[in-house]
Amino acid sequence: MSHANLIGGEWVHSGEAAPDINPSDTNDVVGEYDRANAAQVHDAITAARAAAPGWARATPQVRADLLDKVGSEILARRTELADLLAREEGKTLAEAAGEVGRAGQIFKFFAGEALRLQGERVASVRPGVEVEITREPVGVVGLITPWNFPIAIPAWKIAPALAFGNCVVLKPAEIVPGCAWAVADIIHRAGAPAGVFNLVMGRGSVVGEVLVGDDRVDAISFTGSVPTGQGVLQRAAKRGAKVQLEMGGKNPLVVLADADMAVAVRSALDGAFFSTGQRCTASSRLIVEQAAHDRFVSGLTEAIRKQVVDDARKQGTTIGPVVNQAQLDQDLRYVDIGQKEGATLAIGGERLNRETPGFYMAPALFTGTRNDMQINREEIFGPVASVVPARDYDEALAIANDTPFGLCAGICTTSLKHARHFQRNSEAGMVMVNLPTAGVDYHVPFGGRKGSSYGSREQGRYAAEFYTTVKTAYVNAG
Ligand code: ADP
Repeated sequence: MSHANLIGGEWVHSGEAAPDINPSDTNDVVGEYDRANAAQVHDAITAARAAAPGWARATPQVRADLLDKVGSEILARRTELADLLAREEGKTLAEAAGEVGRAGQIFKFFAGEALRLQGERVASVRPGVEVEITREPVGVVGLITPWNFPIAIPAWKIAPALAFGNCVVLKPAEIVPGCAWAVADIIHRAGAPAGVFNLVMGRGSVVGEVLVGDDRVDAISFTGSVPTGQGVLQRAAKRGAKVQLEMGGKNPLVVLADADMAVAVRSALDGAFFSTGQRCTASSRLIVEQAAHDRFVSGLTEAIRKQVVDDARKQGTTIGPVVNQAQLDQDLRYVDIGQKEGATLAIGGERLNRETPGFYMAPALFTGTRNDMQINREEIFGPVASVVPARDYDEALAIANDTPFGLCAGICTTSLKHARHFQRNSEAGMVMVNLPTAGVDYHVPFGGRKGSSYGSREQGRYAAEFYTTVKTAYVNAG
């Protein structure tokens, strides 16, 4: 029996299901998951609308208790959920356990935030009038999530949405429905009232389209690719919906000559290649000051050589497979493009065969690249990184900012002056000093500038900007 969609507090089958395939072993089917049809998405929105007034009135204690319970179950089942995550998405067990832990903590954090939501009382400029500013739920929110963080991204959208009194319709990525289904099951059993949380799995072109286009959905929070995000923005904005987008990155990691080379190599290795490079915060442009170039390249090449690319759930694996054939084809195509553009392939870039049929690829490092090459302009979303040489700090900063994206930017240096200057002058939403560009805390804002993001920030208390709407009340108390 396939896993059903959750609509209005009931598990509802659509009659159409798709297999969830393990990218480490394509013979392994994780499970069968329903694909919702358009009528079911409509039903889910209807159920969310019906539940919205009640949930908006629920006390902060009720919302906090629900979120806390969800967080506790996720944390208690960390090992089992990490296994499911590694099996359906292909990140290593250690990475998956980190992600599941993060999802649990996010629910716990927003359990607290439900209790902390505050308003303001301001003196009016008019006599006898009192002014109060309060935050109210937006209403029904549609959440559309990508495949690369199958549990953390749904968590960081669902938790604030529910904490601040909204009803949710979640549409997870089609190729990783397992973790989203598990979270839906946990929320349902934790006692969410019918319709407060709905899950509709399936195709973006069906489920996503209906969700984005329905006037009864007040806000859309989307994480995914640039072209899909731009389409979502156009359609949702046209009907006046609130929109928040997190899209791609082409994140620079600057390495200065005064850097601790061990820190720089470790940051580049982690940022560029862990999670198989499938992170929007991946360090894909390694901008290296000339005087450090050869030391850095030999250190990183050596570190890459030591990586074990294999089944995500195998002991000793450090880099799992690419998520599916389409993504692998895209990664290999960019390796080809880089070579044709004149970049030197220092290591990796080839398809690998392992014991089980999976989408294995050797992490690839290009050297001798220029920032205007296609491989340095477009997001690859795989284990492929480029070294871009720079004369000095000023040129490195200019290269770092010369990109259509602006999600995260990093610098490895022992100079306080350059670190602080970079922090202030980097055109990115997040800056890292002596750290990989990927790997963020769960309780502070996440988001970028330029082509990377649109709308207000996700996560931390800043999430209230998106999931609430402000009301200013004037009262003449007589
Ligand atoms: P990726 O597949 O690389 O994660 P996408 O942008 O294709 O990036 O997908 C992100 C999410 O958007 C997925 O849940 C996908 O199903 C959904 N999606 C795809 N097409 C549409 C669409 N036309 N409208 C709304 N959502 C969509």
